[in-house]
Amino acid sequence: MKQLILISTIIMLSSMSSNSQSNISQEEQFVNALLQKMTIEEKAGQMTQVNITVLATQDDATNLPTGARALDPSKLQKALVDCNVGSVLNALEGRKHLEGWHEIISDIQFIATTKTRLKIPVLYGVDAIHGATYLFGSTLFPHNIGMAASRNTDLEKQSAIITALETKATGVKWNFDPVFDIGRQPLWPRFPETYGEDVAITKAFGVAAVKGYEESGIASCMKHYVGYSKPATGWDRTPAYIPEIELREYYLPQFKAAIEAGSRSIMINSGDVNGIPTHANKYLLTDVLRKELGFKGLAVSDWEDIIMLHTKHKVANSPKEAVKMAVLAGVDMSMVPMDLSFYHLLVDLVKQGEIPITRIDEAVKRILILKYQLGLFTNPYPDKNDFVHFKQEKYKQVALASALESMTLLKNNNQTLPLKSGKKILLAGPSANNKSSLHGCWSYSWQGNEEFRYPEATLTIKQAFENRIGKENVICESVAEYDNKANFTLKSVQEVDYVVLCVGENAYAETPGSIKDLNLDFAQQNLVFEAHKYNKPIVLVLAQGRPRLITQVEPKSDAILLAYWPGEKGAEAIVQTLMGDYNPHGKLPFTYPKYTGHQVLYDCKYSETGLTGTQEGFTYNGYDPQFPFGHGLSYSTFEYSNLNLSTSELKGNNTLTVSVTVKNTSQRDGKEAIDLFSRDLFASVTPSYRRLRKFTQISLKAGESKAVSFELKAEDFMFVNANHKMVIEEGDFEIIIKDLVKGFSYKF
Ligand code: BGC
Repeated sequence: MKQLILISTIIMLSSMSSNSQSNISQEEQFVNALLQKMTIEEKAGQMTQVNITVLATQDDATNLPTGARALDPSKLQKALVDCNVGSVLNALEGRKHLEGWHEIISDIQFIATTKTRLKIPVLYGVDAIHGATYLFGSTLFPHNIGMAASRNTDLEKQSAIITALETKATGVKWNFDPVFDIGRQPLWPRFPETYGEDVAITKAFGVAAVKGYEESGIASCMKHYVGYSKPATGWDRTPAYIPEIELREYYLPQFKAAIEAGSRSIMINSGDVNGIPTHANKYLLTDVLRKELGFKGLAVSDWEDIIMLHTKHKVANSPKEAVKMAVLAGVDMSMVPMDLSFYHLLVDLVKQGEIPITRIDEAVKRILILKYQLGLFTNPYPDKNDFVHFKQEKYKQVALASALESMTLLKNNNQTLPLKSGKKILLAGPSANNKSSLHGCWSYSWQGNEEFRYPEATLTIKQAFENRIGKENVICESVAEYDNKANFTLKSVQEVDYVVLCVGENAYAETPGSIKDLNLDFAQQNLVFEAHKYNKPIVLVLAQGRPRLITQVEPKSDAILLAYWPGEKGAEAIVQTLMGDYNPHGKLPFTYPKYTGHQVLYDCKYSETGLTGTQEGFTYNGYDPQFPFGHGLSYSTFEYSNLNLSTSELKGNNTLTVSVTVKNTSQRDGKEAIDLFSRDLFASVTPSYRRLRKFTQISLKAGESKAVSFELKAEDFMFVNANHKMVIEEGDFEIIIKDLVKGFSYKF
């Protein structure tokens, strides 16, 4: 019997592998044959991506007469037929409902596959960032920064699957997500799109998202390769200076993991790293990405970033030089995207022998292979079978679970929370009665700050509170009254039992979100000072994309709940948590800073911790954040004990099993996320004070204990050495879970 099963498994496996081999050769054969027929112009067109507005009658199709098509036949002819454009991106106002999408995609694919010589379908890409951003009726989840706080990668994968299914229902099969930039610069306006400051978390969550997309039949796009997230100024798209040793330690591993997980495309970083704009960096785009990391998929530029080599970065002395630089460096497709200039310049460059045709063929082949794999040559149109996956009630449950699991309770003095029932609350602050500050960027619009776009059914915190404790128990004071004012008075504090202040940041995306001061703005800080005068318990709810400093107002508050940008179920999640219907367990995926001028991250070097002091006895607290990485309270309490290692000497590629017992010492069932850190005691390159290596999440009933175990191998303790190689060195290590520490040594 056993043998039979084995034989049938072998047959199955070999037929799978011969299938996939023949698939590969089939797609290659198909694409090679097509390539041979293509002219230089047709090839250049495939490498050109335009914005949907380039094809539209008007930028905003909202006010077209009933029945009018949104795309302009003469513009379609010019781009798709005359210039052979092979890719389109973005959404058109007025066509963000499912039917609108079907109209757009069908009209484009009809022209591409019936009116062009070779009938090559268009590859359409969108930003479906925390759900299908530009689709009315879709489900919007928390941003990555909140998802990472959940420490629950299954939820991340589920949310990616739902995003993929809803995106596919529109007819689009290419998603510019996930973001693999690491959040080590909290000023950066794209911080909320990151999974925080840690590599292991970024890797695990990013890979879960990639798998969710790819397994659902759409192509993911890892972005933004590489080093985008640590601009020296903190502003978007400004220079980063990242030594190679740091780049390889903190910025590259997640891309490597995503490539191994099967991501089929990558978007290039708009900024410059160490003086070289990434779009012109052959070393990063070809030597590292292709030769070292083995990436075989499609590399697309970011928005206007090729022309910017000339207009902004000033490394190319003409637009033509910019195109040459980028294509030779390794960019396969240009998100031009507002005109057709790239196409014409590229054709000229190839005809003049400035770019070898072999490089063009390489790029076009990657593009056509992706089109083939996505089934566009078989059916380029939106598929009826996919429509049923749009807008299902069960998706809302995943959005709610994600928002709940992200909630991070930062402070809870004297058990201020949960709020007692039968009490009255005063709600104030700019996020108290608004939806955009719970959604953030990429929510029905790019910036996400257009309040009128949010569905009626989406609740504000005020509405969620009223539903939960009754309208009569909620007073919400006007936001406009204290907006940007230094002085104002809260009128109803005396009438209530609690003051809940909903502060933080309204939605922003990319460059418009660049700031010069990480402090919570003055008016909102004043609101806290004002509320503090009345001797009532104060709860801060922070709805924000990045950690705005609350150093001055934190002492004035009794409890603080960090909600991040929790998405469409955010208000319910916040109220359920504050009322104690839900027991929070989110853990910070970043260090919440206390000072503008002192941003030491959790995995800093020993000398930065200041713990050891100096010979003169001078000591200082180097890692001195408002709240440390991994911090997050619960209404339950947990005790950790029995940290055990399976061996005190790990050898070669053996496995080290680490176990720890966690006990819920409270009266309340709860969940607990467990972070496992390691420390290399001595190494050839200054080791970090600690590094997160594994994490998990468990449920524990009141009073219950569980032993949790983790398996680690040598690769988990590796670091980048002075020769820029990922290595492990023999020597002594420690495993740290909470306050428990245990040592082991490693031998080759
Ligand atoms: C952003 C990308 C995005 C692209 C397309 C750019 O401005 O940097 O993340 O995918 O626009 O919308």
